Amino acid sequence: MARRDVRYLIVLAGGSGTRMGGPVPKQFMMLGGKPVLRRTIDRFREFDEDFRIILVLPPDKRRMWLDYCDSSNYLIGPYVAVPGGMTRFHSVRNALKYVAPGALVAVHDGVRPFPPLEMLERIFSLSEKHPAVCPAIKVSDTLRRLEMNSDGLYCSGNIDRSGVYMIQTPQVFHSEILLDAYRLPYSEAYTDDASVVEDYGCRVLYTEGSKSNIKLTTPDDMSIAESRLLISG
Ligand code: C5P
Repeated sequence: MARRDVRYLIVLAGGSGTRMGGPVPKQFMMLGGKPVLRRTIDRFREFDEDFRIILVLPPDKRRMWLDYCDSSNYLIGPYVAVPGGMTRFHSVRNALKYVAPGALVAVHDGVRPFPPLEMLERIFSLSEKHPAVCPAIKVSDTLRRLEMNSDGLYCSGNIDRSGVYMIQTPQVFHSEILLDAYRLPYSEAYTDDASVVEDYGCRVLYTEGSKSNIKLTTPDDMSIAESRLLISG
């Protein structure tokens, strides 16, 4: 199999981040003096500074991001800024307009600033041979389906947690496969890229993710991330 020397990185930051409830979407919130999104991009550039970066931004936050980069002298190097779509799926589809076949393409949530370098190394190395590679971690908590009744939350069904995993990013693909898979019509079930690729008919190899690879979703997650920065210095 030919080596894939070109690596694209799609950084998804096109969401409105409503669960965080702050004045700006979570990807732009400050974490230890830098926006979350900057920390995410820097982690990947530490791993490989030659990524062809495609940054998906909410159309109404593009100016804010460019102003931040200017005023803080933050130079990412050449990258393409793409407008986010209605859903994550549509945002990825917008970004794929800038991806060519024959390469590797990683899709990563802009709100996951701490993917460990060891994990990135492993995923990219596996993706030389496997067309689709995705990190996952085994669920350790008990899972239960709950339903809101008039007087509170009650159990409506148990879930067997054996064989249940939490799916992370970056998910890395041979680019022609992702390009083809994203021609499928949108489904609400497509909350990540591996689900689209599997629906398209391609097997995805799952590999160990990392608990450090936290997805910042709620204000609590920001506090966890701040303490992580304090610990790691
Ligand atoms: O909504 P969710 O938490 O799954 O978002 C995961 C990532 O996808 C976030 O980084 C978010 O900014 C991005 N996203 C996007 N376009 C959307 C919705 C989410 O780029 N329309």
